[in-house]
Amino acid sequence: MAAPEKKSQPHVCVVGAGISGLRCADVLLQHGFQVTIFEARERIGGRILTQPEGLTPMKHATGGKHPIRDLAIATSTPLHTWNSHQNIYTSSGTLLPKAKAASLSTLLWDIIEEAFEYSEAHGASIPETASLYDFIAEKVIEKIPGDDETAREDRKLVSEMSEMWGAYVGHPVSRQSLKFAWLEECCGGEEMFIETTYESIFEAISKPALDGAVIQLKKRVTKITTPEARNSSKISVTTEEGQKFEFDEVVLTTPLGWLKRNKAAFQPALPERILQGMENISVGILEKVYITFPTAFWTEGLEDNFAGYTNWLSPAYASDTNPHQWPQEIWNLAAFSPENRRPTILFYIYGDCSTYITTLVRGKADAEHYTLLDAFFKPYYSLLPNFEEGKAECKPKAILSTEWQKDELNGNGSYCNFQVGIKDAAGDVKAIREGCPERRLWFAGEHTAPFEELGTAAGAYMSGEAVGTRIAEKYKAI
Ligand SMILES: Cc1cc2nc3c(=O)[nH]c(=O)nc-3n(C[C@H](O)[C@H](O)[C@H](O)COP(=O)(O)OP(=O)(O)OC[C@H]3O[C@@H](n4cnc5c(N)ncnc54)[C@H](O)[C@@H]3O)c2cc1C
Repeated sequence: MAAPEKKSQPHVCVVGAGISGLRCADVLLQHGFQVTIFEARERIGGRILTQPEGLTPMKHATGGKHPIRDLAIATSTPLHTWNSHQNIYTSSGTLLPKAKAASLSTLLWDIIEEAFEYSEAHGASIPETASLYDFIAEKVIEKIPGDDETAREDRKLVSEMSEMWGAYVGHPVSRQSLKFAWLEECCGGEEMFIETTYESIFEAISKPALDGAVIQLKKRVTKITTPEARNSSKISVTTEEGQKFEFDEVVLTTPLGWLKRNKAAFQPALPERILQGMENISVGILEKVYITFPTAFWTEGLEDNFAGYTNWLSPAYASDTNPHQWPQEIWNLAAFSPENRRPTILFYIYGDCSTYITTLVRGKADAEHYTLLDAFFKPYYSLLPNFEEGKAECKPKAILSTEWQKDELNGNGSYCNFQVGIKDAAGDVKAIREGCPERRLWFAGEHTAPFEELGTAAGAYMSGEAVGTRIAEKYKAI
């Protein structure tokens, strides 16, 4: 029997060429659909390619399903597991002894693990107002009892160390819902960094779509008109230039932050439960600052090549530049395998600090950008081992910073998170994930991922795969 003409195959429009859209296109093509991708940017890749040097940390629970880790292995992309050693500078700038830093950090992570379990088991009875920070503060008293100075100091240190949670979700730990802390559990497992770039992984994800789909760049979708019922008409998509296209199905992968701001793009309006879901879930604001030196002076002469992770707790010694005492943290890219080592420290900044920094350098020419960021971060990097004022090796060669929160195609943020006050976060995700198949409209993207991978690159991939499979099933059933 002759193969059916391509024209007769149902035609699906995927809006957005990030990981979720590309994976969705791949699955649909495998099932014989015609696929057209509309991407607003001049390039494909979405959020994974907005990182300087293409570097993305990957977090996953050991042994869990993780397509990006699997693709990294398949494409021989080197992964790095950080050493367990970490440096903690107290709020006065003193380095904690190694053993103390390790034991307090272990205690903190044990408490966070408990919080995940507690929130999963007792979510229904946990008040919406409770935060992860409240849980940690209560547990710290239980786990470090006593009224002597050491106990008091240790409790304070653990509470301050808990601020590192902000760099996982993009908002302070006091804003993290305890009721729905379990939805963030993917961040609790083993952490791996890609040591080089995302290039090979991305090539593997994008190849099927590049080969088999029509990809139209610079096509910003502004309106989606859905039929009242599947059999009443097709679904149409209008672009910024006013062009209107009809399709059998539309998969929208625009970021949650875009959906929040563009609810009026849907005509007729989306069902109320989906609109509520989009409103209720938050978008984190995480940014990265890469500071590269002529050499990794902080590792010289150290047996263990320095810690992978360093945290400056609530700094009280930089009041000129950081009067709010926003904590600072870095990952040390000089700790990679010898062939991939870079003399770079990578700051993760979030919440008000990230908004302050992105606003500070917005539109500034290179030299001023460098000067402003160097002034802000120097109080921290100048505490690293071997730092000497005036020494050429200790002066940054380059400073790169991201501005995801200023980019509306990124949804003006990093990825979804679940804040204090949210009542039914799991229901919100499910409502968006379900979409409106009866109106030929589907949603994919990190905010619709399986619960164990919400907000991640792996989750985005899985969400695209799931929607592609659901559409194929729908047509099989017709
Ligand atoms: C700061 C930061 C740190 C991160 N850290 C990690 C990490 O450590 N580990 C991890 O696994 N993940 C991390 N992520 C998350 C990961 O990058 C995302 O989850 C993933 O890339 C999202 O893919 P997506 O397909 O859902 O969305 P996107 O990649 O955003 O794709 C959506 C696409 O839609 C396009 N678009 C938007 N609006 C329109 C429109 N109107 N018309 C047409 N096209 C449009 C966009 O240009 C984009 O290409 C991080 C993200 C950020 C920003």
